[in-house]
Amino acid sequence: MPKWVYGFGDGSADGNASMKNLLGGKGANLAEMSRLGIPVPPGFTITTEVCTFYYQNKQTYPADLKPEVEAALARIEKTMGCKFNSREMPLLLSIRSGARASMPGMMDTVLNLGLNRETVAALAKATGDERFALDSYRRFIQMYCNVVLGIGHHHFESILEERKEAKGYRHDTDLTAEDWKVVVKGYEKKVEETQGKPFPQDPYEQLWGAIGAVFGSWMNERAITYRKLNSLPDSWGTAVNVQAMVFGNMGENCATGVCFTRNPATGENAYYGEYLVNAQGEDVVAGIRTPQPLSLAEKKHAGSDLPALEEVMPALYKELCVIRAQLEKHYKDMQDMEFTIQQGKLWMLQTRTGKRTSKAALRIAVEMKEEGLIDGKEAVRRVDPAGLDQLLHPTLDPNVPKKLLSKGLAASPGAASGKVVFSAADAEAWVGRGEKVMLCRIETSPDDIGGMHVSEGILTARGGMTSHAAVVARGMGTPCVSGAGDLKIDYAAKTIKVSGHTIHEGDVLTLDGSTGEVFLGAVPTTHPELSGDFAKLMEWVDVIRTMKVRANAETPLDATTARKFGAEGIGLCRTEHMFFDPQRIIHVREMIVADTEEQRRVALAKLLPYQRDDFAEIFRIMDRLPVTIRLLDPPLHEFLPTTDADFREVAKAAGMDFNAVKSRAASLHETNPMLGHRGCRLGITYPEISEMQARAIFEAACDVTHEGIEVLPEVMIPLVGLKAEFDVLKEVIDRTAKAVFAEKGVEVKYMVGTMIEVPRAALVADKIAQGAEFFSFGTNDLTQMGYGLSRDDAGSFLKVYVEKGLIDIDPFVSLDQEGVGDLVRIAVKKGRSTRSDLKMGICGEHGGDPASIHFCQRVGLNYVSCSPYRVPIARLAAAQAALGVEGETNA
Ligand code: ADP
Ligand code: MG
Ligand code: MG
Repeated sequence: MPKWVYGFGDGSADGNASMKNLLGGKGANLAEMSRLGIPVPPGFTITTEVCTFYYQNKQTYPADLKPEVEAALARIEKTMGCKFNSREMPLLLSIRSGARASMPGMMDTVLNLGLNRETVAALAKATGDERFALDSYRRFIQMYCNVVLGIGHHHFESILEERKEAKGYRHDTDLTAEDWKVVVKGYEKKVEETQGKPFPQDPYEQLWGAIGAVFGSWMNERAITYRKLNSLPDSWGTAVNVQAMVFGNMGENCATGVCFTRNPATGENAYYGEYLVNAQGEDVVAGIRTPQPLSLAEKKHAGSDLPALEEVMPALYKELCVIRAQLEKHYKDMQDMEFTIQQGKLWMLQTRTGKRTSKAALRIAVEMKEEGLIDGKEAVRRVDPAGLDQLLHPTLDPNVPKKLLSKGLAASPGAASGKVVFSAADAEAWVGRGEKVMLCRIETSPDDIGGMHVSEGILTARGGMTSHAAVVARGMGTPCVSGAGDLKIDYAAKTIKVSGHTIHEGDVLTLDGSTGEVFLGAVPTTHPELSGDFAKLMEWVDVIRTMKVRANAETPLDATTARKFGAEGIGLCRTEHMFFDPQRIIHVREMIVADTEEQRRVALAKLLPYQRDDFAEIFRIMDRLPVTIRLLDPPLHEFLPTTDADFREVAKAAGMDFNAVKSRAASLHETNPMLGHRGCRLGITYPEISEMQARAIFEAACDVTHEGIEVLPEVMIPLVGLKAEFDVLKEVIDRTAKAVFAEKGVEVKYMVGTMIEVPRAALVADKIAQGAEFFSFGTNDLTQMGYGLSRDDAGSFLKVYVEKGLIDIDPFVSLDQEGVGDLVRIAVKKGRSTRSDLKMGICGEHGGDPASIHFCQRVGLNYVSCSPYRVPIARLAAAQAALGVEGETNA
């Protein structure tokens, strides 16, 4: 037969900290503290199994619960030396809810239970303090009515206010015993009015009423919503803690407070807390009186003139310090504690792992490892990769008031302010004059790249997490909010209309790319530090992880950033991104509009030196590290000239007729360019393009090898669906390599592999792997094609899917492990079946998402590749994946 009730107190307990599922977090830790000999008021925990029973049996209790509760209550009476419902010194109880995880939304604590007209008189007599007794009683009536009987606080507040006004008092503490008597009368009358019966006078009826209210609160709307939002199961149930009251409100030698073993904001290893003299329960957090600092150091730091506990009650402060050390050593983590001092005696009422900021989490993990409290693995487990992201980017000062204008997608993290401009050209011009700008566009295109580069932040009204603006901004490390749909951007008027405001060119906006928020005006930002604790943690991370972490980088600047953040190679160098420069895009357009192979070769010859120099520079920066270069993969619509000015320019450069260019561009127009003439399809139809690129790669590789630098090129063919596509282009690459090596008189080792991004490729991966030496999962396109979701259009409706709970998270943000993930699993298995040493990685945006990284570890990929700024996050997530810690989302 199960045991329903677990006692604690007086240096022992039936339960312990490992029994959170049965006793709830609060109950398990009260038991544990008791066992450690820490002074805890005696009490008992009614288990979560009773809650389960209650809901499975039409809200009734197990038959043997009552005798168990009575026996446990008798033990409290014995320890405390007083009796519940006694007319001498009555025992009072606190009734506290406590689920496995701390859960706002559940029942509030009821204090001072057991008081009625008679016991309140007894309490007054026994303590010689009538005012205290009445104050406790009125608090009890108010709490009990609020949480058990459902009579709102305001009814009681108005009665109290009335009395204060009548007597000209300002504070509750001004009320005398006589005043409280009048107030209590008023309270009792109010209860009778609303309930049609008097306030329950039988303490046992009060006790069972409160227990029932705790179990009832498990299924209240707030609690259900909270569980849904945090994906906690309804089946857990809550426990009920019944505990002897200790009083912080019995005079000047009494107090109540909360404290953290380390500073929860900064992580500093210093005692941190607040307390109030002569107070009870939630007074400290209620904000009626200003709480006082715990230590003198804290007092000094805060510039407070209120006396610290360390000076008011030095002996008790010392005792608290001993408990602080004891609990931290025992739990090996920062603790958040609640205490009460009754007439010079300290009681601990709660301990739990304390919540902390990302900054504090990092510092605490590192310092605890260095103190020998935890090992490196545990330190690595303690830091949330998503939180690390905040530390790597500027953040908004949380203490400055802000005016929120709109919320879009958190497309590229970090905070930035700047003057609004509406075109890339204006951005460049304004920045040239020394201004800081915020580029605001309906959406961006490759034409905007220059302006994007110089802007502090990028804001778009349209486009999802893998829209052009989002991908490019992340790559550049520029804060970006995309798809802020309620912005009405008018390019002609140069205005943005949003939530009743009209923003003009030159007005200042601030955005937070970590939250998607857009604010009016400038908000100060704080900047990150990459040394110290961060560097130490990263060292431990690198020892643990088994997957390599590479970066997606296509410029020397990206490559340098990637190395600075610890990338172990480039997993994706997109060659078309190297063409966005205005000087070069013209030649790309020439190539695209070329009518004949000959014309095309002329354009390509102009591009070759640019490519070769870029590759050489990247090879130098990535010395001894592999560099995966993807052959040209432009959805043509991103590059086609559109305006007459563009056509004229291209015509001039290509030596073609204006109309010929225009009609050629029209003939190249595709209905569905994302599924059109792109990727390897370009190389199949125009092998000279792949040939030029291979030549640029190998010439650069040979030249840099001659400089004494080790080069490890990996040539990657995009958008392969057929083995034959791969074979055709591999032949071009191998042939070009051979020719270049002969010309240059040196041989460079290289690999040829493919992207797996077309679902068909995943399904025939065994065949493709006969030729391909590596696979790189392009999960952006694999998601787009596997899901049938347009990357550029999904933003508008996917959020409805998330809101309605059809999916947990945007599949472009965190890999759809069930569906698209299965394509990856199939490709891994099939690929390795024909080539056991096939190297495999991921280079989609998912390569920087912790949950997706866990997936990559599970399916056995060799590396992940992500934007340079996410490399540290990926390193940490990969280490946690190796340790088997699940990611935050979707895992
Ligand atoms: P929460 O989950 O909101 O922290 P608690 O159950 O910890 O709720 O109770 C809130 C407050 O009530 C405590 O911080 C403490 O001040 C007071 N309290 C709870 N139990 C007791 C007790 N046995 N004696 C005195 N005060 C108590
Ligand atoms: Mg509470
Ligand atoms: Mg608490």
